[in-house]
Amino acid sequence: MQRVGIIGGGWAGMACAVEAVRAGHAVSVFEAARNWGGRARAVAATLPDGNEVLLDNGQHILIGAYTASLDMMARVGVDPHEALQRVPLNLRFADGTGLSLPLLPPWLDRATRRIAPLDVLAGVLGARGWSWQDKLSLLKTSTLWQRQGFVCADHMTVADLCVSLTPRVRAELTEPLCVSALNTPAAQASGKVFLRVLDEALFRTPGGSQLLLPRFDLGALFPDAADRWLRDRGARTELGRRVRSVEPAGQGWRVDGETFDRVVLACSPWEAARISADIAPTWSATADALAHEAITTVYLHGDAALPAPFLALRSTSEAPAQFAFDRGQLGGPRGLFAFVISASGDDRELLQRQVMAQAREQLGLDGLQPVLTVIERRATFACTPGLVRPPIQVAPQLTACGDYIDGAYPGTIEGAVRSAIAAAAAL
Ligand SMILES: Cc1cc2nc3c(=O)[nH]c(=O)nc-3n(C[C@H](O)[C@H](O)[C@H](O)COP(=O)(O)OP(=O)(O)OC[C@H]3O[C@@H](n4cnc5c(N)ncnc54)[C@H](O)[C@@H]3O)c2cc1C
Repeated sequence: MQRVGIIGGGWAGMACAVEAVRAGHAVSVFEAARNWGGRARAVAATLPDGNEVLLDNGQHILIGAYTASLDMMARVGVDPHEALQRVPLNLRFADGTGLSLPLLPPWLDRATRRIAPLDVLAGVLGARGWSWQDKLSLLKTSTLWQRQGFVCADHMTVADLCVSLTPRVRAELTEPLCVSALNTPAAQASGKVFLRVLDEALFRTPGGSQLLLPRFDLGALFPDAADRWLRDRGARTELGRRVRSVEPAGQGWRVDGETFDRVVLACSPWEAARISADIAPTWSATADALAHEAITTVYLHGDAALPAPFLALRSTSEAPAQFAFDRGQLGGPRGLFAFVISASGDDRELLQRQVMAQAREQLGLDGLQPVLTVIERRATFACTPGLVRPPIQVAPQLTACGDYIDGAYPGTIEGAVRSAIAAAAAL
């Protein structure tokens, strides 16, 4: 049994702690904030009628391909079927145009997925408002991507990959998919990572492209349940404990004076860079060099409902939100909406005003009142071509995990959880 210190209680830190406890280690988790979950956490807010409500620091979506995250939730006692509403990938706009994938019977999905995803084929052929030219351009281009094994040159952007698609397919499919999955605009986003996500979501996992919309707040979805699971098994978990330093101590490490055999940096890349600056300067510089993109969530309230729990929006620089969620249909109070702006600017007043106008114009939602606007300025790393991400190993007996660690996924919950499982395996 090793004494393991884990610095950070986001999804990566908590998942790593769960795996380390399962492997029989004595685990301590230190989290600087007053609650668990990091960039995917619950926040308290007040509705216009004075009622208290638990929201999220940002509306999140999981997808069916997030198998590691779903397994991890189940491991700590959260039933993913109860906690998440599974809907087919639907990029339909309020006027009914756009692409929506049908839900296949699971046996048909399993039998055909690796050869040709029938849901994608049916969705493309049935896309409303698309010409035959639009549909053919997508079928031809995606067949080519499949034949090339969903890989491309390191330097290619998503915009480069999509040049042969018609402007409508780019505007209504690849650009919104790219900005929501990679949180980076298509002109700057890594083509290689985009193809990998498409491959996982469309070809490798039955139901992989289905959207999983949280019915619980993000704390209840995993980190709070993980905290209970860990404490029940004798792990030590401390909130409000910002780790200042990690120093060598014989074969192990001293964390603010306390000795551990193994330490895992599960904090944000900039904090991991600060802590490791003297221990592993090259690793630290790589983590520090990452650029970041913002995500803004605008919560509004009014006496209305959307035709579906989730709708795509036509996004421009004046109407910046890409997606709208009706939280009333997702276990929240009726009339509560979340509007998501990936790769957003950071002028709170302007974004809120613009989104209220967008909700009026595109969804006919009049008289909405602001509840909360959360701008997460460093929501994820900018997922650009040829990006060098730091590896799991920082120094002997010192590892790191988090969504920014080198791996198949962009800055997502699944990337964080997968890196955590790998870091725990390396203990
Ligand atoms: C607004 C928003 C929307 C998003 N939408 C999606 C989505 O729809 N789907 C999706 O998959 N992903 C989404 N993401 C990304 C996802 O939230 C992240 O990829 C994931 O939460 C990263 O988890 P992590 O554990 O790697 O890092 P973090 O969550 O950043 O965890 C690091 C933790 O370390 C703590 N910490 C930092 N320094 C110290 C220290 N010195 N001592 C102790 N603790 C410290 C921090 O407080 C934090 O809790 C979104 C992110 C944001 C912000």
